[in-house]
Amino acid sequence: MTTPLRSRSTTRAPVKVQAPGKINIHLGVGGATAEGYHELATVFQALNLGETLTLIPGGTGSIIVQGRYADSAVPADETNLARRAIDLLIAALEDERDVDVLRGIDIVIDKQVPVAGGMGGGSADAAAALVGAAHLVGGVAEDVLHDCAVAVGADVAFLLRGGTAVGHGRGERLSPVLTRGTFHWVMATSARQLPTPDVYARFDELNPDPAPAEIPAGVLTALAAGDPDALAASAANDLTEAAVSFMPEIAEVMEAGRAAGALLPLLSGSGPTIGFLARDARHALDLAVLLQATRGVNEALRATGPAPGAQVVDIVG
Ligand code: ATP
Repeated sequence: MTTPLRSRSTTRAPVKVQAPGKINIHLGVGGATAEGYHELATVFQALNLGETLTLIPGGTGSIIVQGRYADSAVPADETNLARRAIDLLIAALEDERDVDVLRGIDIVIDKQVPVAGGMGGGSADAAAALVGAAHLVGGVAEDVLHDCAVAVGADVAFLLRGGTAVGHGRGERLSPVLTRGTFHWVMATSARQLPTPDVYARFDELNPDPAPAEIPAGVLTALAAGDPDALAASAANDLTEAAVSFMPEIAEVMEAGRAAGALLPLLSGSGPTIGFLARDARHALDLAVLLQATRGVNEALRATGPAPGAQVVDIVG
């Protein structure tokens, strides 16, 4: 199926694209496969805290990272996940289509998601780049975009779609989840970064024979009912112990959030960002104020989910 994004012809006007960050409302981790990936059973939720990319055709291939979480850890070369995504799309299309407009694109990343924080910021950049590049070439089949997304990283396919979804395999085998209403989160970021591979390696040491990953039925029921109290009673993240072993302050911040009245403190992905589930918008505001003053919290950012997946928001010029 071809996504009908305007006409089939290419366009050279810069395009602005937004993509959400995410929280894993539940993260069940099983054993590692022969390829070294862990079998996951996760529930992703896209958050209205995300990245904005501007793709500017006809440039020199530069990458500029700006915004709240601009960071020297974000590469400006072909290893940047946004650039990789576009390069993979070029490779997938170039035998059949004119993709010259995608060569030498300049990318401006407005980074509003912490780097290596477990919220999928780099993956959001890749998802945004794919949607923007698809627009520039006049539309790309959904399965081609999905394959490019998965080739960049496990979370990218979800961030293309957004919403709330169950992810199996590495998190790329997705099915949508029925939710009611809006869930309110306070995302407590850390001044430190925690590389995802390190956390999985520690998980393996701590769990030499893990049970198969699964999603508790209560999580899906609570999401369908829009019931944050019920969600708090059933969701968990299997990477918590491993992340805390690197950064004991994660446990302290989780405890502080619980004491401040959060329904559920939840490590976001592999951390160190912690998501705190609130009852409603007012409760989230109260929690954010308390958490902002907590030792070990860099910033307490309010976010809601589910949010839409990567989408073109403006054609510049
Ligand atoms: P996840 O939750 O998907 O595991 P994360 O949020 O913990 O990811 P990211 O911020 O996505 O981590 O990035 C992790 C690493 O990827 C960074 O340390 C950086 O070296 C590299 N990277 C490559 N491209 C990007 C990008 N566009 N934005 C951020 N990091 C990038």
